[in-house]
Parts: sequence; C-alpha cells; structure tokens
Amino acid sequence: MRRSSLRSWLLLVAVLFATLVVGGVALTTYIVVSDGMTIVAHDSILRIARDAADIVKDEATASQLHAATQGLDGSERDSEAVREFQRRIPEMFRAGGLSEGEFAFYDDSLELVWFSDERAIIEGVDEQRQQAIDSSKVTESSVNEGGILHGLLGPVHLGIFVVHVPLQTPGGGHGLLEVSYFPSQEEAVIDSIRMPMFTLAISAMFIMVVMMQTSMGWVLKLVDDLRKAAESIDAGRLDVHLPAEGEHEIGELARSLNKLIDKLSRRADAQTRFVADASHELATPVAGIRGYTNILRAWGGDDPEVRDEAIAAIDRESRRMARLCGDLLSLVREEGRLEFKSERFDVNARCRLILAGVATRYISKGLEFSGPEEGQLIMINDPDRIEDAIAILVDNAAKYTPDGGRVSVKTRRRRDNIFVEVSDTGIGITEEDLADIFDRFYRSDISRSKETGGFGLGLPIAKSIVDAAGGELDVRSVEGKGSTFTIKLPRGRS
Ligand code: ADP
Repeated sequence: MRRSSLRSWLLLVAVLFATLVVGGVALTTYIVVSDGMTIVAHDSILRIARDAADIVKDEATASQLHAATQGLDGSERDSEAVREFQRRIPEMFRAGGLSEGEFAFYDDSLELVWFSDERAIIEGVDEQRQQAIDSSKVTESSVNEGGILHGLLGPVHLGIFVVHVPLQTPGGGHGLLEVSYFPSQEEAVIDSIRMPMFTLAISAMFIMVVMMQTSMGWVLKLVDDLRKAAESIDAGRLDVHLPAEGEHEIGELARSLNKLIDKLSRRADAQTRFVADASHELATPVAGIRGYTNILRAWGGDDPEVRDEAIAAIDRESRRMARLCGDLLSLVREEGRLEFKSERFDVNARCRLILAGVATRYISKGLEFSGPEEGQLIMINDPDRIEDAIAILVDNAAKYTPDGGRVSVKTRRRRDNIFVEVSDTGIGITEEDLADIFDRFYRSDISRSKETGGFGLGLPIAKSIVDAAGGELDVRSVEGKGSTFTIKLPRGRS
C-alpha cells in the first residue's frame, strides 16, 4: 500500500473511531439526561395528581363539588355553582403550588364537566379513564410526541403525562379528576444542554482526529525513513543509519536495523578484504613462478645450476599456491556451513594419528610430543572435520615452538562435553594479537618475520569448524612461554 493511501486509510479509521467513541459518549449522556428528566417529570405529575385529589376531596371544596355535580344533569351545567367550582379549583391548585398541571373533571359517563385550560382536554385516553372509573384506582397515561431521540435534531418533546384520579362525589356519584402535566421545564433543560454537548462532541472529535493524525504522521515518517534506508542498502550503500531516538518500539526497530546494517557493512568489508588479501597472497607465488620461468627461459638451457634452482623455486611456489588454494577452499566450505556428518568416533585415536603426522613433519626441530594415552574417548560428530581443526592447532603448536620445545595434546570429558587441549612451550602470543588471531589472513609480526609459511587462515578455519560443530574454541597464551588452545565440543551431536 502506498504511503498516501495508507495515510487516507488511517484518516478514515481515525474519523470513524472518533465518531464512534465521542458520538457514543455524547449520545449516552444525552439519553441519560433525558431519561432522568422524564423520571423527574413523571414524579412531578404524580405529586401534582396526588395533591390535586387531596384538594378536591377536601372538606372545603366538597360543597362546591357537590353543587357542581348536582348541576351535571344537563340544563344546569352553566349554573352559578358550576361557575363557582370552575373558578375556585384552579385558584386552590395555584395556592397549593400546582401551577404546572392542567386539570379536567369528567362525570361517571366520561362527559367533560370542567377544565382549567383547553390543553387539559386530552384525546385518545378514554380507555384509561374508563379503567380508572371501573377499578376506582388511579391510572396513568402518557401521550408521547416523538420521544427523546426526536429531540436530537430539534427541540425535544417528552409528551404529556396524564393521571386519572377516580373520585366519589359527596352526593354519592362518581367522577374523574384528570391531571395533565406538560414537562416544559424538563424539555427546556434538555434543549439547553443539546448545543453545548454537540459543540463539545464535535471539538473532541476534531482534537482526537488531529492527535491521531499527528501521531500517525510521526509513525509514517519513521516508516518512510526505514524505506529510504532499505532502498539505500538495496543500492549497495551500507553507510546509512536510521534515526533511532526514543525508548519506543519504532526506536527499538531502528536500533535493531542499524545493528543489522553495521553487521552487513562489516561483513561486506571483511569480504572485500578477504578477496583483496587472497588475491595478494596468490599474486606472490605467481610472481615468483613467472620470475623463475623467465630465468629458466633465459639461462636455464646453458646453466644447469640456474635451471635446478629455478625448478626448485617454481616447485616451492606452486606448492605454496596449492596450499593456499586448499586453505581458501576449506574456509569457504566451512563458512558455507556444509552438512556435518554425525558419526561415533574415538577422539583419542584421532589425536594420536595427528601427533604422529605432525611429529614426522617437524622431526628436524627435535620437539617432544605427548598425547592422550591409551583408552578411548568416544563422541558423536564429524570425525574428519574435528580432526582437521585439531590438526591445525597441533601444526601451529609445532610451527611456533622453537627447537627442543614441547607440544602436548590432552583430552577430557566433563559432563556432556569433550575438551581437547593443545599446549606448547612456544613463542606465545601477545595480548594485542590474541584479539585478532582468529581473523582471516591475520599473522602476528613475529610469525611473519619468521617466515613460517602460513597464510593466516588456519585458526579461522579451525574456529569455523568448531563453531559449526556446536562447540567453542578458546586460547590462553603467555608471550615467550607458550600457548594453550582449547576446543570444547558437545559429546553427542543431534
Ligand atoms: P598461520 O598460517 O599464520 O599459522 P593461523 O591462522 O593458524 O595462521 O594463525 C594466525 C596467527 O596466530 C599466526 O600467524 C601466529 O602469529 C599466531 N599463532 C597461532 N597459533 C600459535 C601458537 N601455537 N603459538 C604462537 N602463535 C600462534
């Protein structure tokens, strides 16, 4: 996905998220407030109805009511008594603090006798009226005019709450007092919170979207930096570094990638150095061979001494070249992590064989060799590769030990590991050299000047073998006294 489309996608998600969260909170608040107001309105109507019924039943009004109901039988509806009743009742209600309700009085055949205001005549509640008369119990009606949610877009209408109170008139007849409540105060409260609430909700949504976009922009910038770095690496540049500030996940990712880039860079450098060193090492014997070939061509025919010397030199240089090629091949093979065999073999027997071979090669130096006595030390690994690694160490020990010195190989088993220790009483290794001797083509100054014939590839090969075999190769050395190389290998290999 391209960055711009990711950005618009994230914007859409942010808007949706903000709308859902903030809208949900605002809507819930609105519903809770409206619901609360409805309950308050309901309580008000019940209180008013109760008080109204008490006032009507009151001793003081009994006579008026009586007079009024006496006049209900037709012609006397407009009698003075009815008018008096109509005048007195609202006055009494107002005196009782019941100005919010409207009132109507019906006779037992549900004929309207009296009402405080036109609004008090409520349509569509005949059933509840009849129910109240029949059961002599207070009933309630609610004439809804749209409900709470209707008020989200315009003024709210909570509807009209009506309480039907059945009454027994002093004359023994029945009537129905109807109290209607118009919750205009509650509606006004709901209407007054709508605007600030929506303003607040829209502002919160806007701030939320801006904040999400800002943080997303920051993340996208880091992602963009990563992409640029990847492109630079792809173009072969390994000197790039990502901005890796902050203790957050992206900072961690950038730091890991920087480490990876450094590693790749070091590896690429080492590769270049390796090719340069290998070419240089190969160029030396080739130059020697070419020089002696020219000598041979010029004087070889006439002078047998020159010819023999040239042939011997060419032979020496070509052997050196063959050895170098062999070493390079071993190194490439080991670092290529070729398949290891898993065979049972006796390490002690292999060590004895190695010592015998090295002793023969260095016979002229008069070295004293000692190795593992009789007895077996069995392990499972690749016997030839392990033998190669030990042979390199024993050969070095013999090579870097002056005439008459001692070279010893000791083996032991500790728990599930086998240790092979190759020690010598040779020239030792300086502390600075110790850090580098496992690098390819590294040779200490002393060994270089001694012209011992190595290429600085033995230890890197041995280390690659031991690493691949799941072991460790360590060295301890005291300059001028000798060195001890220790190979630690798992006894069994899975
Ligand atoms: P080389 O072919 O030069 O022996 P190695 O990789 O085997 O290459 O060894 C690297 C360097 O480590 C040697 O040139 C030498 O300086 C040092 N070295 C290795 N083994 C010994 C040893 N047993 N005693 C002293 N120096 C050693």
